[in-house]
Amino acid sequence: DTFGMISDANKPDKWVYSTCGYCGVGCGLYIGVKNGKAVYTKGDPKHDVNMGTLCPKGLSEHQMINSSNRILAPLIKCNGKLQKSSWEKVFTTVSDSFKKIQKEHGNKAVAVIGTGQLLTEEFYTLGKFVQLGLGTNNYDGNTTLCMASAVMGYKQSLGSDGPVASYEDFQHADTIFLIGANIADNHPILTLHINKNKKANKKVIVIDPRASKTSQMADLYIPINPRTDLALYNGLAYIVIEQGWENEGYIKANTNGYKELKKHLQDYPPQEVANITGIDVKTLYELAREFVSQDAVLSAWTMGVNQSFMGTDTVSAIINLHLLTGHIGREGTGPFSITGQCNAMGTRETGFTSSLPGYRNFGDMAALKEYASIVNVPEEIVPTSRGYKYADIIDAIDRGEIKALWITATNPLVSFVNQEKLRKTFAKLDMLVVQDAFLSDTAEVADVVFSAATWGEKEGVYTNSERRCNRTNKAVEPLGDSKSDFDIILEFSKYFEGVNEMLFPSWSKPEDAFTEWKKVSKGQLCDYSGITYELLQEHGGIQWPCNEERPLGTKRLYSADIPFRTPDQKAKFICGDWFPMAEAISGEFPVILNTGRTVEQWHTRTKTKTIAILNDLVPEAWVDVSPKDALKLKVKSGDRMSLSSARGRIDDVIVRVTGSVREGSVFVPFHFNEQLINTLTNDSFCPKSGEPNFKQTAIQLHSKKVPEGLVIQETEISGEIAHKKSAYEGVAFKEKELTISKA
Ligand code: SF4
Repeated sequence: DTFGMISDANKPDKWVYSTCGYCGVGCGLYIGVKNGKAVYTKGDPKHDVNMGTLCPKGLSEHQMINSSNRILAPLIKCNGKLQKSSWEKVFTTVSDSFKKIQKEHGNKAVAVIGTGQLLTEEFYTLGKFVQLGLGTNNYDGNTTLCMASAVMGYKQSLGSDGPVASYEDFQHADTIFLIGANIADNHPILTLHINKNKKANKKVIVIDPRASKTSQMADLYIPINPRTDLALYNGLAYIVIEQGWENEGYIKANTNGYKELKKHLQDYPPQEVANITGIDVKTLYELAREFVSQDAVLSAWTMGVNQSFMGTDTVSAIINLHLLTGHIGREGTGPFSITGQCNAMGTRETGFTSSLPGYRNFGDMAALKEYASIVNVPEEIVPTSRGYKYADIIDAIDRGEIKALWITATNPLVSFVNQEKLRKTFAKLDMLVVQDAFLSDTAEVADVVFSAATWGEKEGVYTNSERRCNRTNKAVEPLGDSKSDFDIILEFSKYFEGVNEMLFPSWSKPEDAFTEWKKVSKGQLCDYSGITYELLQEHGGIQWPCNEERPLGTKRLYSADIPFRTPDQKAKFICGDWFPMAEAISGEFPVILNTGRTVEQWHTRTKTKTIAILNDLVPEAWVDVSPKDALKLKVKSGDRMSLSSARGRIDDVIVRVTGSVREGSVFVPFHFNEQLINTLTNDSFCPKSGEPNFKQTAIQLHSKKVPEGLVIQETEISGEIAHKKSAYEGVAFKEKELTISKA
């Protein structure tokens, strides 16, 4: 029944309105419930985001609730093995441990790593407890592995975090630039919005070192050299100014730093940029002209831009071009980051990662006082500066400075870089607590596990990439002895003297947190004050800011009546420099490894690895190898290879020979713990955002014979799929579909 008809025997007793709990697209859906069990998921036909459709993950999402990988009771480690326990025992054990560590080593010796998967009410509650209750600002989230560069880029250029545009703008744009964004795999429903664009002159330009499924829908595909996007955007800005194409009126009225930018760009003349990016000078001029000759230009990006050691400045370089040309704040325009997780936005808005709740900047004493007064706590307990970022927390554990780590709904032992080092670091902790609904690789090594409820078992709101807050309802009871993350935090807080009474007086349900969050966000860019649960359900979500003046929300930021969030309300041109790759290729490691996602799996597969239909589609990781490299290595599709880097080696990765990667580059999806690709990746990070440079690692390939027991079928799926137009010869390739199954 997952993708087909519902038989009479399986017809749900009721349908519960909700929002998909996987990615940041935020599809509206209904969960079908029969006899108290989730048995079906279907798209909401009236929903503006997905118009009734869902991707394979959404369509099978109900199966995730009853996964055999669920944790059904709190667990505690005894004699090296996790054993079933009680809530009282685990709360007492962890609170005693935290108190002892904090007494001996200071409050900041306890750190927290969060997620983008909780509900906003839960993020708000968790952040408040960690920061004001436990008194540590060493709290970051796995959103730092994903969206931190967009956050910091928006902040340094526009004065605040907050995605600028709406999905609807894909329909209104004349030209859509997709930069480092394989939306066809990672945000598949967004392609529907591009297809709804019926403009005669519509053009989709895909800039990516890898010819992905997304590049096949492009009018123009630009195969840029890996990690040269910052040089490209500086180069395009150079040409716009050189040609006198800039929007002088917009720049004067709305920006600062133009003169400095102009000077800075002198290092990025077209020929130099062509040498760096591999894009010829003529095409660079064509791209720059595209920006100024169209009424509405939209740039959307994801991990190809963010996951970079220059991620923040690359985001700002994209924003620079939009500010120079005035393509912001109008229909069909904007520099638009697409978020990864269902509620990455929730954790960004409620703060504690890079700002205080409601995008209040650390160090802004007026904002701090205002926040303290709204939540009725002494100003002295509100932090004045940001704590350690994710990677800094890991380093501080390594140094022995942080002694206890509480991880919620994320799985660093697959998702973080340099896995061997990370495992050794975790072993140094006095206390590792994992709060999760699934027995993740990280939960397996924990001292204590808080068994959490998951999507469909709890209620609250998620906010998607376009700032659309939407309702997520409870359809079924939490499995076994699991509790919602909201309940876990609230009850755990009672084990710390006076904390629950101070922070959560008479709170008992998520709506209590939402009511306070509305007050805390009022007047901020992410203003929720006009949102009610009822309105969300009625309208299929509402885009913030939503308040008395904007009772049904706001489609796009920085239109004439929404000023930039800097002190003088002007955006700032940022001068960012391009640098060669964080880890250069060498004779020993001559190949560039790129990593990413595939539509059928979700992150570290804690949620998807027991869903049969998804695993039948993609049972294991593979490595994409170019035909030329395959020839050199004497491998063919279906063979097995090993990959090694300066940090480690992984074996038995199945080969797919494809023209989608260039000679000297390979691609491997990062989802699989069996072929743990982050064994190879490097701990190099953007200094401003802390986001890891997942996308380029210098590696070596080692060919190996095909093992027995696999059936590999290779079929040409539709002959030659050439890009409609390309400035490059040899970009068109024959695509073959590889079906891998176990014999
Ligand atoms: Fe929509 Fe993303 Fe869920 Fe797929 S995973 S159904 S695209 S929200």
